Amino acid sequence: MTEWYSRSEEEVLRELSSCRRGLTDAEAHSRLEKYGENVLYEREAVPWWQIFLSQFKDLLVVILMIAAGISMATGDPESALVIFTVLFLNALLGTIQHRKAEKSLESLQKLSSPEARVVREGQSVTIPSSNVVPGDLMILEAGSLVPADGRLLEVYGLTVNESSLTGESLSAEKHTGCLRTEGERLSPGDQVNMVFSGSLVTSGRAAAVVTATGMNTEIGSIASLMNRAEVQKTPLQISLDHFSGHLALGIMGICVLVFGLSVYRKEPVLDALMFAVALAVAAIPEALSSIVTIVQAMGTQKMAREHAIIKDLKAVESLGCVSVICSDKTGTLTQNRMETEAVYINGREMETDQLKEYAGSGKKDAKLFLMAAALNNNTSPSAGDKEGDPVELALFHMVQAAGAVPEQLRLCCPRKGEIPFDSARKRMTTIHEVQGEEIMFVKGAPDVLLERCTRIINPAGADLVPSRQLSASDRAAILNQNQEWSLRGLRILAFACRSGAKWQEDPETDLVFLGLAAMMDPPRPESRPAVAAARQAGIRTVMITGDHRTTAMAVAGRIGIFLPGDLALTGARLDQMTEEELEKKLPQISVYARVSPEHKIRIVKAWQNRGHIVAMTGDGVNDAPALKKADIGIAMGMGGTEVSKDAASMILADDNFATIIKAAANGRNVYRNIKNAIQFLLSGNMAGILCVLYTSLLGLPLPFAPVHLLFINLITDSLPAIAIGMEPAEDGLLKKPPRDPKEGILTPGFVGQIFFQGGLMAGATMWAWSLGMRQGGEALACTMAFSALTLARLFHGFNCRSSYSIIQLGLLSNPGSLAAFMLGSILLAAVLFVPGLQMFFAASDLMPVQAAAVGMAAFLPTVVIQLGRIFRDAQQ
Ligand code: ATP
Repeated sequence: MTEWYSRSEEEVLRELSSCRRGLTDAEAHSRLEKYGENVLYEREAVPWWQIFLSQFKDLLVVILMIAAGISMATGDPESALVIFTVLFLNALLGTIQHRKAEKSLESLQKLSSPEARVVREGQSVTIPSSNVVPGDLMILEAGSLVPADGRLLEVYGLTVNESSLTGESLSAEKHTGCLRTEGERLSPGDQVNMVFSGSLVTSGRAAAVVTATGMNTEIGSIASLMNRAEVQKTPLQISLDHFSGHLALGIMGICVLVFGLSVYRKEPVLDALMFAVALAVAAIPEALSSIVTIVQAMGTQKMAREHAIIKDLKAVESLGCVSVICSDKTGTLTQNRMETEAVYINGREMETDQLKEYAGSGKKDAKLFLMAAALNNNTSPSAGDKEGDPVELALFHMVQAAGAVPEQLRLCCPRKGEIPFDSARKRMTTIHEVQGEEIMFVKGAPDVLLERCTRIINPAGADLVPSRQLSASDRAAILNQNQEWSLRGLRILAFACRSGAKWQEDPETDLVFLGLAAMMDPPRPESRPAVAAARQAGIRTVMITGDHRTTAMAVAGRIGIFLPGDLALTGARLDQMTEEELEKKLPQISVYARVSPEHKIRIVKAWQNRGHIVAMTGDGVNDAPALKKADIGIAMGMGGTEVSKDAASMILADDNFATIIKAAANGRNVYRNIKNAIQFLLSGNMAGILCVLYTSLLGLPLPFAPVHLLFINLITDSLPAIAIGMEPAEDGLLKKPPRDPKEGILTPGFVGQIFFQGGLMAGATMWAWSLGMRQGGEALACTMAFSALTLARLFHGFNCRSSYSIIQLGLLSNPGSLAAFMLGSILLAAVLFVPGLQMFFAASDLMPVQAAAVGMAAFLPTVVIQLGRIFRDAQQ
């Protein structure tokens, strides 16, 4: 059992009273040192030498080491040394790549790690969950992830989903009662006054004192969770692994063939064996998997810099295929910086400055309206809480601007209870004690509230809440005002109240209508161009909002989402539609209004049934299932609940729609770069294989020594492949439709290019080889073939940067590729001209004219490929 079970009630109560103002920073600091970070698992950093050693676990590397051993034993220490050096350098490169990828994942995990609200030094502050300590006073709200185990102090309608702990999917009600008596032990299910780390707050709000953190929590004792931090392979990595496996088999077949032919021709068995092994290493793209990982890691880092935090690497691949984005309106497409523009009280539309005048006259309708706005409100910016709901913040400021003091109203009319705002209910209710009587205040969507009103405020009356019957004409006037404001894209809230209401007894009916408030939430300036860019990229944007249909249509029209001929549907209409009807109308519907989070799943499914890859944004606790169902669930980093962040695969650090489009472009770029790196590696390998097959089948001397192939494949090829992975996005990237998710990498066109480009390089290499044969025999031919193939592959790095010609791209637009070429060339020159290395690589001296011939042969395939592209572009 964890610590809190064994502590006496007295001890707990003493702790509670001491932390009403929360801990001081110094206390929190010393407790953090004493109890450690509040984390459930710790990713143990693997030491670099272990990563380095793991690079030698590969079967092919083992075979090579055996081969090196044989070389050594048969009196060829040079070859053995070269093999070991090459393997060492390869392992070093692999280690660097591994660390880089791990570092980027770690920093992403840090960026997306959950946050908690606690009271410290009497102030409510948001801190990383990992810094929560025992004794902290945590504030829980609908959508919070409970950061630690805690005992409840204050509760307003709290329900908590504890499925991660108990397996029970239904939410459990919690309250402060049921304190354990001395010596009694309750089973976890009966702990209604406790909340547990890892549970989700599904509704209500509460304050609780932290009793246990990290591994001392109930969930911390469940060992199976400890492996959560394991990095999983993405579908692309898995399919590439499969592909590499099949390729390895094919190549082994070729090796056996080459080996058989060598033996048949009575060549020394050892030489033939060594060569077959080296050919296998040269042909198998071992670097593929780590290149994919590193390109993805670099892509996610770039996305994080642009405010899109990837939680699940799979999202990077899916982003490139996104064809539909279902976006929330408030805060994502709009600024969520609300300001009350006008109010409507007792049949009068007023600007906010007129309200001050009206309220100053002491009218009861204005007084109750302002009371409702101040009391049915959870923000208190004056207490330093600047993070509150923008709607409530705007109302708070409206009350202040009208000359009232919200804090004073709250002191005079203490709150007895609350049904928190919920986007499915579209309203919030509080009960207050006003002059000895209980009054229920309700605020919410006008259509929802009006249905529950039977009376309207009558300022002439003498009662605490004077009212008269709500007539049909009153109702029509209110709806008319609502419609007029909605057409201007304003967000409207209605207020109502009921006197003599008993908490938890009277429902929110028979209400007295108090008035309307209209708020402006301007669209973000980036939204319109982002929607247009998405359209150009073949990505459809759909607005899903809890707001009124007319308001939603007006805002969507301004942003360019709602176009002539489009449909705007309400949640109620959606409920009436059959699946077939919805699927048929789907392409025309660009706005869904007054929907609840449950509708989102239906919309995602309908688009997915039409074969689309769907990105869906969400911020509320009820959005989690839709975020999980979507191909890419996107949570809001600033305004989103912890539950939605937990369910999402991507978090928008700036809550901005335009960031989604940037992320989609980055996703496309990452995929394209990976594909290009694969093309580079495979076409280079193809060239090597074709040369070896050609000479083997014709019974000619082999064009490369084993160390040559190792050098090319493990050293010089990795550099351009990484540079290709860093290729910046082209302008045209968002002008093409999204990639078909079902289309694999190895399309016939792609394989054709690998054969063609590999064939060109093989032809050039064999030409250099035959020149060497004519001018100096086998040794020179071998040196010339090796140099030509290495250099041709380095040149080919430029071709694989993009499908565009290098003239269009610009040689300097990817400095990494230039650096990779130069570094590769220097390494080649070192092997050819530095005396010691020359001996190890059995390189013959090259005369300037021969070196020039090699350079020309190596350059020729690139010239052909580039000319082909220039010709193609000229024809378009
Ligand atoms: P989105 O576009 O992100 O879905 P939304 O704010 O339009 O956001 P909800 O948050 O679901 O949608 O709100 C639905 C309706 O509930 C709003 O149109 C408004 O009338 C009402 N509402 C919003 N916030 C509050 C609140 N704090 N208290 C009471 N009612 C609210």
